[in-house]
Amino acid sequence: MDRSGRDAGGSGGFGPDGERTVRRAVVTGGAGFVGSHLCDRLREEGASVVCIDNLLTGSVDNLAARADDPGFVLDRSDVSEEFDVEGPVDLVLHLASPASPHDYARHPVETLRAGAHGTLNALELARRKGARFLLASTSEVYGDPLVHPQVESYWGNVNPVGPRSQYDEAKRFAEALTTAYRTALGVDTVIVRLFNTYGPRMRPTDGRAVPTFITQALAGLPLTVAGDGAQTRSICYVDDTVSGILAAAASGHHGPVNIGNPVELSVLELAEHIRELCSSVSPVEFVERPGDDPTLRRPDIGLARSAFGWQPVVDFDKGLALTIDWFTRLTPAGR
Ligand code: NAD
Repeated sequence: MDRSGRDAGGSGGFGPDGERTVRRAVVTGGAGFVGSHLCDRLREEGASVVCIDNLLTGSVDNLAARADDPGFVLDRSDVSEEFDVEGPVDLVLHLASPASPHDYARHPVETLRAGAHGTLNALELARRKGARFLLASTSEVYGDPLVHPQVESYWGNVNPVGPRSQYDEAKRFAEALTTAYRTALGVDTVIVRLFNTYGPRMRPTDGRAVPTFITQALAGLPLTVAGDGAQTRSICYVDDTVSGILAAAASGHHGPVNIGNPVELSVLELAEHIRELCSSVSPVEFVERPGDDPTLRRPDIGLARSAFGWQPVVDFDKGLALTIDWFTRLTPAGR
């Protein structure tokens, strides 16, 4: 039986105990870094997948494994415009949004539209289909946090007009809209707040710390550490993030719930560690720190643990080694 009590037939279960069954999922942003891994996992679990992605920051290359897959469809629609999906849908996973600081700096209006119109359109799809809806929110809703580690009950410290505001406020609005659809319109929703995620399929030039340091280390270029590098980050391997997303979707919880790896290290430590794993002798070069760059980042994942038994399992060095291997094969410098 699926969550609505209907006989789900022979389709794949998902979630930690396989307690929910998804026959057909819609993944917005499914051609992106996290979304493409999510599409792959859903297909492995037996669900058919409709990916809605206008390829603003994603790529069909990320979906190479889905090229001849009859259970997968790519629809290149813009979620900020009204869109529809024919046939039944059990689960809508809304990830479409520029997500790296470089991307949302280049696309500020598109980012706000994806968070506002895109979330509205994805929620409307879930409402029409009677589907569960998952919003991929972000740790950036905590801004430059005054509470550490970040727990879901913390409201955040966000600049509404700063250089990151288009992203932070888009996601905060998306959370508010998702909450309104649940409380006022009865849509079955869950909000996950993803913390920094890394892994294969990140783009070398997206400006995030892990791909930046890996590509610099592989090329023998200076590792550009912002400020004095004392600001902290907690990074989660993409397979763990995907498991967390699906565990939250499979649960009855409405969140918000943090999905991230609580291992915290400074940006300088991260750079030096990546340099070591790349067997590189690149020097560290301290560069200007971007405005409103958060000083501390570490998720409290007690809620995810207790609500649906999720926690990251991929060893830090193993995850980084897999990522370095991917960049080694990708970049000319690594060949
Ligand atoms: P990404 O840029 O690789 O993927 C985003 C995808 O959304 C891309 O394929 C892009 O083409 C698509 N997209 C953007 N605007 C769209 C629109 N209007 N219509 C249709 N498609 C659109 O980013 P990602 O790192 O995979 O992030 C995915 C989601 O997870 C985002 O919502 C992001 O906010 C969230 N998130 C990611 C991280 C992380 O560390 N990667 C952390 C927190 C939250």
